[in-house]
Amino acid sequence: MIDLRSDTFTQPTPAMRQAMAMAEVGDDVFGEDPTVNRLEARVAELLGKEAALFVPSGTMGNQIGIRLHAGPGDEFICDLHAHVYQYEQAAFAQLFGISVRTIDAPGGMLCPQEVEEHLRPDSIHSPRTTLVCLENTHNRRGGRVLPQDRVEELCAWAADRGLARHLDGARLWNAAAATGVPPADLVRCFDTVSVCFSKGLGAPVGSALCGSRDHIARARRLRKALGGGMRQAGVLAAAALHALDCHLERLADDHAGAQKLAAAVREAPNLGLIEYGCDTNIVVAEVAPALGSASELCAALRERGVLTLPISPKRVRAVTHLGVSPQEIDQAAAALREAGG
Ligand SMILES: *Cc1c(COP(=O)(O)O)cnc(C)c1O
Repeated sequence: MIDLRSDTFTQPTPAMRQAMAMAEVGDDVFGEDPTVNRLEARVAELLGKEAALFVPSGTMGNQIGIRLHAGPGDEFICDLHAHVYQYEQAAFAQLFGISVRTIDAPGGMLCPQEVEEHLRPDSIHSPRTTLVCLENTHNRRGGRVLPQDRVEELCAWAADRGLARHLDGARLWNAAAATGVPPADLVRCFDTVSVCFSKGLGAPVGSALCGSRDHIARARRLRKALGGGMRQAGVLAAAALHALDCHLERLADDHAGAQKLAAAVREAPNLGLIEYGCDTNIVVAEVAPALGSASELCAALRERGVLTLPISPKRVRAVTHLGVSPQEIDQAAAALREAGG
């Protein structure tokens, strides 16, 4: 089976397993795991932030990030299709008493005028708006790279209004690879940023939250409270370090593969590419009524040896990653043309 459901289905490579096996470790809850410390320093430097914290998942990184900038009775603003809103169980509400206000932002890019309209007035009746969250690349919007000039414009406006800025950068690496802009330049205008090692980078586990020294000191306490304090976590950090050494450059291959799949989607008479096209490693196809539902297309592709994911009644997602060879991409493209015909 050619598994294009997600870039989380990667298997650690033999070299990555070797790096994990050889990792020098200690008790990271005591701050004594040298490999975790090395990873945190490396990521902080890559993102141009003072400090970083290794966390078990992107969800934990985002939720801690949100909690740093909002508390009970506060509200944050994000795109309607943001991962933090759609796929994280409203943990901010369950765990921290934080509210959210969503905006259906074209391409996932909030604009100052519209956010302004959703800000709460300073009133005894209202929650307080304290934070704006963006996502780059944007998962549900087809792996879209947010236009950097608009990101900076929004962040400058938000800072001016006294609002904090958090970026869900689960696939920030893909945005950097697609644009050629260094990750640090993409995130300069954010207070905190979460990044994943377990997506396109191919590590089995792990994310990082980055920000100021003060933010990360608070984040370390929150991580412990959430049960995310890990002991000899260097075994996992070694995989992430290996991924940063060896799997960043090859993201361009994933993007090239996605372009082939996107071309097949464009050519198939009963499929259409979503409005923002394909910027990175995620291809979202819209299924024409004549062909049936998203699940029916997924079933037809499965019969042809290709696994994809229905993400709405009419939309199917295919994600390229290091576990799929160029030949398999060609096979998958052929399957899309056939099943979408
Ligand atoms: C995968 C992902 C996350 C985090 O997911 P985990 O499964 O908790 O690691 C966060 N944001 C986006 C956009 C993602 O794609």
